[in-house]
Amino acid sequence: MAKITLDNLAHSYLPNPTSEEDFALKELNHDWVDGEAYALLGASGCGKSTLLNIISGLLHPSQGRILFDDEDVTEAPTAERNIAQVFQFPVVYDTMTVRDNLAFPLRNRGADAGYVAQRVQQIAKMIGMEEQLNRKARGLTADAKQKISLGRGMVREDVNALLFDEPLTVIDPHMKWELRTQLKSLHNEFGHTMIYVTHDQTEALTFADKVVVMYDGRVVQIGTPQELFERPAHTFVGYFIGSPGMNLFEAQVAGQTAEIAGASVPLGAGYAPVGGKVQVGVRPEFVRLSDSGIPARVTRVEDVGRHKVIRLDVAGQKVSAIAEEGAPIPDGASHITFDAAGINVYSDDWRVSAKEEAIT
Ligand code: ADP
Ligand code: MG
Repeated sequence: MAKITLDNLAHSYLPNPTSEEDFALKELNHDWVDGEAYALLGASGCGKSTLLNIISGLLHPSQGRILFDDEDVTEAPTAERNIAQVFQFPVVYDTMTVRDNLAFPLRNRGADAGYVAQRVQQIAKMIGMEEQLNRKARGLTADAKQKISLGRGMVREDVNALLFDEPLTVIDPHMKWELRTQLKSLHNEFGHTMIYVTHDQTEALTFADKVVVMYDGRVVQIGTPQELFERPAHTFVGYFIGSPGMNLFEAQVAGQTAEIAGASVPLGAGYAPVGGKVQVGVRPEFVRLSDSGIPARVTRVEDVGRHKVIRLDVAGQKVSAIAEEGAPIPDGASHITFDAAGINVYSDDWRVSAKEEAIT
C-alpha cells in the first residue's frame, strides 16, 4: 500500500499541445492518502481513464511526476508499480479455467501453492464463482468473465493500490450492488488505497470515503459526500451530484443580500464584491414555498417515495424544491425562499467564500 502523489501532472494526446484545450488532463497536484477509498466521478470523456492509466503506468504523462511513497515512479513500467487494475471490459485467459485465471497474478509473483489454493477459494466466494472454478473461461457470459477480472484484481494482498475503471458496466444491476459491497468490505479488511472510476453518483457516494469530481479534464473538487452536497466548489459539482441537482440563479450579490429575479434575498453571510458571472446556487433541499420572497409558480409535483419534488417556474427558469412526503403544498404558495445554510455564491462557476465576519 502506498501514498500516491501527483506532482504538476498533465496530459495531452497531441504531440505538440499549445493551448489548455489540447490537454485531456489539465494540470493537477494531489496526494491520494494511503489506505483511503476514492471514487473518481465525472461524465464520459472528462479524463478519468486517462488519469487512472497514468497512475498505473499504461500511459506516460506529457508533464509532471507520479510518486509512490515519495519515490518517483514516472519512468517505471506498470509491472514495477505493483498495482492491480480492473477495466470496464473483461480481461481473462479464455483457455484457462476460472481457478487458473484467479491464481495467475499470485503464481506470477511466485506465491506458494498452499496459499494460492486458499486465497483463490476465498476470492471465488467473494465473486460468487465457487461452483465454476474448474470451468474454462471460454463460453462463460460477459458478466461472469468480468467477475473473474474483478477477482484477479482483488486476489493479491500486497499491491500498492487497486484501480477500478468502471468495472461494473457489464454486470447486471442486482450483482452490481453485491459486488460493490464486496469491494467495500475488501477495503475495510485490507485497507488498500483504492481508486474507483465511475460516472454514476450513487456508486461514487456509496463506495468512497472521498469523491474526486472531474469535469472537462480538470479535478474540480475532492471531498466527502457531505462536502460535495453542502459546499459544491464548482457549479458542475452542484448540478452533477444530487437528484435533482442544485438550482442556479443569476444574481447580483452585495454584502449580505442577493438580487434574484427582482427580489432581495438574504444570504445569511457577507460577501466581498463578487465579479464575473455571478450565480447563487441552492439545492432543492433548501428551497421553501412561501407567500413572500422570489415570485414562483408551481408547475408540477412529483411523488418520489420518501419525498416530493416540486417543479417551479421562476421568471421563465425551471427550479426544483424538495418537500417532505406528507407536507402540504400551501394554496397561496406564490414565492420561494431559501434556507440560509444551503446558499452558495459562484463567480464564473467557482464557489466564492463568505467574508470571515459573516453573520450566520
Ligand atoms: P473518461 O474515462 O472520463 O471517459 P478518457 O480519459 O477516456 O475519459 O478521455 C478523455 C479525453 O481524451 C476524451 O476527449 C477522449 O476522446 C480523449 N482520448 C482518450 N484516449 C485517447 C487516445 N488514445 N488518443 C487520443 N485521444 C484520447
Ligand atoms: Mg473511461
